[in-house]
Order: sequence, then C-alpha cells, then structure tokens
Amino acid sequence: MNISVIGAGQMGNGIAHVFAQSGHSVTLIDIEPAGLEKAIATITKNLDRQVAKGILTEDQKAATLKRIATSTDMAAGVKNAELVVEAATENVDLKLKIFRDLDATAPANCILSTNTSSISITRIAAATKRPAQVIGMHFMNPVPVMKLVEVIRGYDTTDAVTKTVVDLSTAIGKVPVTVNDYAGFVANRILMPMINESIQTLFQGVAGVSEIDTIMKLGMAHPMGPLQLADFIGLDTCLAILRVLHEGLGEPKYAPCPLLVQMVAAGKLGVKSGEGFYAYTPGSKESVVAPAFRK
Ligand code: NAD
Repeated sequence: MNISVIGAGQMGNGIAHVFAQSGHSVTLIDIEPAGLEKAIATITKNLDRQVAKGILTEDQKAATLKRIATSTDMAAGVKNAELVVEAATENVDLKLKIFRDLDATAPANCILSTNTSSISITRIAAATKRPAQVIGMHFMNPVPVMKLVEVIRGYDTTDAVTKTVVDLSTAIGKVPVTVNDYAGFVANRILMPMINESIQTLFQGVAGVSEIDTIMKLGMAHPMGPLQLADFIGLDTCLAILRVLHEGLGEPKYAPCPLLVQMVAAGKLGVKSGEGFYAYTPGSKESVVAPAFRK
C-alpha cells in the first residue's frame, strides 16, 4: 500500500517505521527539513536496535529504509496515497487546515486517518468532502514497541473503512481496538486525568516527583510513573489533550493544573525539550529530577 505520514515528530517517525518494516511504501512529510532528517536518523537508530536484538536482519533494515521517502511538499507527497496518517502537532486549527488541503490533493478513494490523541474525528472529518473516509488511527508511543492502535470511528465513518484500518493494523502486528468518537476517546480520557492529578499532587506539595512516580510504579505496577510518562508524551501535548477534554466533556475535573500550564509556557516540554519533571541528557537513558523540583 502507498501510505503518506504527515508530521515527522516522535509519533510520525515511529508510524513510518512500522509501515515500512511491514513492506508498505511510505512518504514521510513535514514542513521542517531538519525534522525529516532527524526522523530518518531516529528510525535508523531504532532499526539498529532491532538488528542488535535479532528481530531484523541487516538486509531487512536496509529494505525498510529504502521504502521510506521524505518530502516537505504535502500535495506532492500524498498524490499517490491510498492511506494518509496525519501525525502533526496536536492543534485543532492546524489539523482542520491539513485535512482541507488533503481533501483537495489526495486521490478520491484515499482513506484519511489521524493519529490525534483527543481531537474529535467527526470535527476533522467535517473539514473534508469525504467524512465517510475519515477515521482515527491512534498509535501509542513508542510506536515500534507498543501494540495498541485505538481505532476511532467518526459520526460518518463507514464499516468498510473501519475494516480496512482494523485489518491493516493487524497485518502490521498491532492490536486494533475500535471505539466511538468522544473527546479523548478511551485511552486519553482515562490516562490524562491521572497525569493531571499527579501534577496537582506535586503542585499542592503532597509529595515530590520521585515519590509520586515511585508510588505509582511500585504500588500500582505501572512500568513508568505518571510524571515521567507525561515527560515522554510531551507536556505541550498533555496540556492540549486536557484542554480538549475540558472543552469537549464540559466538566471542571478536566481543567489542566496551573503548574502544567506554567511549565509549557516556560518551554519545559519534557524529553523533547530536555527538561520537564526530569532533566534529560541527549543520547543518555538516565534522567534526574529537574532542578525546579529538587528539594
Ligand atoms: P511532535 O511535536 O513530536 O511532532 C509534530 C510534527 O509535526 C513536527 O515535526 C512538526 O514539524 C510537524 N508539523 C507541524 N505542522 C505541520 C504541517 N502543517 N505539515 C506537516 N508537518 C507538520 O508531536 P508528536 O508527539 O509526534 O504528536 C503528533 C500527533 O500524535 C499529535 O496529534 C499527538 O496528539 C499524537 N499522539 C502523540 C502521542 C505521544 O505520546 N506524544 C501519542 C499518541 C498520539
């Protein structure tokens, strides 16, 4: 299948990786040439890791990389697409514009999917003249490792389009779960209030960063504490999702914690900016509690 992935950030590069590894031709598109270079470097590093673990051969790695083309021109990059997976920044106006443009440039039978964490599929679909062919394809981070694809049906999404996306997700080794389209769907409707409550717990001085994460790791058997997970997701993305939940579900319990709002304003976005609740050194797996939260 010809698949175009829009946005070469942490999700886009993983989505391109898994499709190409399964034999699909991928065009990875971003407005930033540097973002595309970084994405290819990340995919190469992650493929190297799979080779080292014996999951892939060197030949399979080379063939996977060969199947990924890059482009900064969206219209050219989607002209032969059978499926588009949009994974650009979590911003509703941006996504509406991308889908209007995609509708005008992608082939008429192309399925337009979005990896949005929370924005209404129905609203995105309504920006196009093909709402029946618009669907949510919500991969989890890191994409090459995580099994789940949350498949979200918009108001008009057809059974046939849903089946194509479910079958494709299964064929690339993922486990699709189909849900309906309300703010945050299922994954983030449940995850984000937990992350927000962890930030609120820190904000109110109930406990420090490592105490909160240790309690949730050892007490609830979570592989990673919620504050560290927020750093991995990106604090800007967490804030954007909470705002969508707050607006879409209309309950005050979804209001983002002021500390999260302030950290995003300060450019502390987590792993991608080098600092969030923890401080990160590029190329190192070590993280230490960020200076602002040291006692
Ligand atoms: P990111 O900030 O790492 O990457 C976003 C990319 O989109 C950047 O490279 C940016 O240059 C690019 N971009 C912005 N405008 C564009 C445009 N008009 N055309 C093409 N590219 C454009 O973000 P991310 O974490 O990869 O998130 C991407 C999407 O995936 C969001 O909708 C997010 O909610 C969703 N998502 C994120 C996670 C996560 O854990 N981070 C998990 C699941 C879903």
